[in-house]
Amino acid sequence: DPQMAERGYSLLRRLTDQGYEGYFVGGCVRDELLGRPVNDMDIATNATPEQVIALFERTIPTGLEHGTITVLIENEPFEVTTYRTETEYVDHRRPEQVQFVRELSEDLRRRDFTMNAIARGIDGKYTDPFHGIDDLNKGIIRCVGVADERFEEDALRMVRGIRFASVFDFEIEQQTWQALLHHQALISHIATERIRIEMEKMIAGPYPYHGIELLLISGLIPYMKVNVPCQDLHQDLLRSLEQLPASPSILRWTLIALALGMDEQQIKIIFKSWTFPNIMTDQVSKIIRMNERLYDGVVQLESTSLSATEYKHALDEHTNTHQSYVLFVSCVLDYGKEIARHWHTLFPVLPQQYQQRLAIIGNQADKWLQQLTVYSLADLPIKGQDILQHVNITAGKWLGELLNEILLLVATGQLDNHQDVILHYAEQALARRGLR
Ligand code: ATP
Ligand code: MG
Repeated sequence: DPQMAERGYSLLRRLTDQGYEGYFVGGCVRDELLGRPVNDMDIATNATPEQVIALFERTIPTGLEHGTITVLIENEPFEVTTYRTETEYVDHRRPEQVQFVRELSEDLRRRDFTMNAIARGIDGKYTDPFHGIDDLNKGIIRCVGVADERFEEDALRMVRGIRFASVFDFEIEQQTWQALLHHQALISHIATERIRIEMEKMIAGPYPYHGIELLLISGLIPYMKVNVPCQDLHQDLLRSLEQLPASPSILRWTLIALALGMDEQQIKIIFKSWTFPNIMTDQVSKIIRMNERLYDGVVQLESTSLSATEYKHALDEHTNTHQSYVLFVSCVLDYGKEIARHWHTLFPVLPQQYQQRLAIIGNQADKWLQQLTVYSLADLPIKGQDILQHVNITAGKWLGELLNEILLLVATGQLDNHQDVILHYAEQALARRGLR
């Protein structure tokens, strides 16, 4: 984003004009070198937080205790952090307290990987004391300094290393990998949420399977605070992760849940303990429920049509398609159009037996979704109250059931979506049930 870069440069210029140092650092320098899109630009400076606040019109003391001030340049936020080190790591986590330092090189030394420890000045020159650019070119993730010490200081770095290896399709350098294997168990000290955030970036990247493989062989998973039921892992399914769009991320997470053989109950418990937002847990379990319902429904259809004789075959095929259609539409009405679309996106990577059994639905879902004109009771021209008035019976459980029946009939084109047609149908249906 050239506009963001321009604003970033004007920020650096303001710092240097006032006699301070200022550099782009970390992710933005790395991503630019890789030719990847840059989403945010972090800046390191020798100015103290107070001096940064004094220098710019609009600042937010985002992480004052870590020396981080957010500076707004034409509404664009930049994190400006005073050169610092991290000392006295307690419990293998990054410390609450930091110490400000005078030199850029000292600041770069505290960073996790060589490729994340490159600074770029206003003149475009790189400061790269740990040869991060070489490692970027070689495609290598390497700790800054002694890997053993760095993972011992902050165990999250192990997961970050795997995340970066995954996103960039890089290799983890030998000593860094050995140190990781050696310190596996320390991951138990790290908060689940911080691990989840790294995992989300990994899964949303272009090579999620690479990361999962590394994670599996790293031996980290058993030491994580939260259980991941890997025993019956369906690893083949995970190879298809890359075929799914990265966003919305629920699609990939649904495939992971399927590959782990998680049922709805497990999804609820495990996703929650992984601190995923409720909406995510909810959507993943709905997609899986819809998939199961379609599968069970088709199995049932198959078992009834087996009894048909040969000459009725053509008729059966038509009936089959129609019944599949009704099955699909009833799922759309229950779970919503969005979930149905997600299921359809997932269809080509579902396990073989699902793709075979659900072929008719999978092939037509798109067309069927486009044809649908009603999705919920709100799309009907009548309300429960209208039916009550028309038939003059007291409300009861029957009303909701009848409305859903009507909705399905209208949605599948078996009933016109007109008030009088629907009321007439309601009357007949109630008479059939002996309610009227
Ligand atoms: P992205 O934002 O693309 O996820 P990033 O490299 O910017 O990647 P951040 O978590 O935003 O990652 O951190 C910014 C920088 O801070 C990193 O590039 C790295 O230099 C440093 N850093 C982040 N986390 C750690 C850590 N646990 N240990 C040491 N340095 C870290
Ligand atoms: Mg970042």
